[in-house]
Amino acid sequence: MKIFVVNAGSSSLKYQLIDMENEQVLAKGLCERIGVTGAISHKSADGRTYTAETPMPTHSEAFEAVVYALTKSEAKVIDSFDEIAAIGHRIVQGGSIFKGSCLITPEALQQIDDLGALAPLHNPAHVLGIKACIKTFGTEKPQVAVFDTSFHQTMPEHVYMYALPYEYYEKYGVRKYGAHGTSHGFVSSRLAEVIGKDKKDLKMIVCHLGNGCSITAVKDGVCYDTSMGFTPLDGFMMGTRTGTLDPSALTFIAEKENLTPADINRICNKESGMLGISGVSNDNRDIAAAAAAGNHRAKLATDMQRYQILKFVGSYIAAMNGVDAIAFTGGIGENDGELRKYVCDNLGYMGVKIDDEKNTLRGTEVKISTDHSKVDVYVIPTNEELAIARDTLKIISK
Ligand code: ADP
Repeated sequence: MKIFVVNAGSSSLKYQLIDMENEQVLAKGLCERIGVTGAISHKSADGRTYTAETPMPTHSEAFEAVVYALTKSEAKVIDSFDEIAAIGHRIVQGGSIFKGSCLITPEALQQIDDLGALAPLHNPAHVLGIKACIKTFGTEKPQVAVFDTSFHQTMPEHVYMYALPYEYYEKYGVRKYGAHGTSHGFVSSRLAEVIGKDKKDLKMIVCHLGNGCSITAVKDGVCYDTSMGFTPLDGFMMGTRTGTLDPSALTFIAEKENLTPADINRICNKESGMLGISGVSNDNRDIAAAAAAGNHRAKLATDMQRYQILKFVGSYIAAMNGVDAIAFTGGIGENDGELRKYVCDNLGYMGVKIDDEKNTLRGTEVKISTDHSKVDVYVIPTNEELAIARDTLKIISK
């Protein structure tokens, strides 16, 4: 059985076709510049490629290009879309409504659209993607929504509320929702599996460190707390995002520089974080190279990021009254052994011990703590597309 996984953005469309018999990716690709010009780059698992520039005024033409790539191009992997059992969509914001993945009915589609107020950059684009899928593949092909927020819906009220006047929660739903939930769910389940225990019996901390970064405390098998908040801006510093800071710093700067809320949003989301501090790049590899060459601001960005990650991990150990296992994932988490060592060495007082040799391994599933460590520490590569495909299969099998 084959599942088609879609991540629709406002001007882009990422996709993977996954064979669920062996959970292998058959092909993946990306449509870009939708609404402007239009281009597709597509690759099959055996290395064949297909690229084309073709007009994509809307997401519908992008899906038509994808169908061509999958079924007719020199990198085709299937004869017809009839071979595909269902389509799974990544949806950023499920609000308090969606506690898990669901079949996309007209009612669910309306609810996803209505949640656009909480995720204006994402949900409206997902809705365009779903509607274009209906246009291209018809209503018979089941479509499933998998939400970035649903794994975090188990957070208790005292964890997800902000200490603002209560009316803003009641009127607008302002609270912590979290993000990266598909990854945190996938990695925490895998962590319990490799340790060989029921996840209900473990206290786990998952550090998803990529361009966007978040850390989640998983207790009794479910999310207890997570670093991202009302939006993915919260938590600790990321490629271009600030993470947590004193809101008065923003009102102060806004008054000094005569900035609008939209300006503040742009600065905090796109111009801050590792990029804003280092002035070099949002990419940790560039920043590490600059720091090694003696760039003070690059070194400062690295030091700040590591320190903030450590503080979150420490606070979640306190929040859960202990920790049994920690996982690192995402481009940075899977590759940056120095960062992992910094965090783990600073948890040495709790009996965390790192095997320095194993910690040099990159991008692979590996236990990096020693056998004497009181806490198991693993690198677990994340796979959000596979998690979406698994959920899609589960929902259509019901
Ligand atoms: P996204 O959140 O966009 O999916 P990724 O998970 O791919 O991002 O992570 C991107 C980050 O991972 C970048 O900061 C990049 O520098 C970092 N990264 C990727 N490979 C390595 C590596 N070998 N060593 C250190 N950092 C790496």
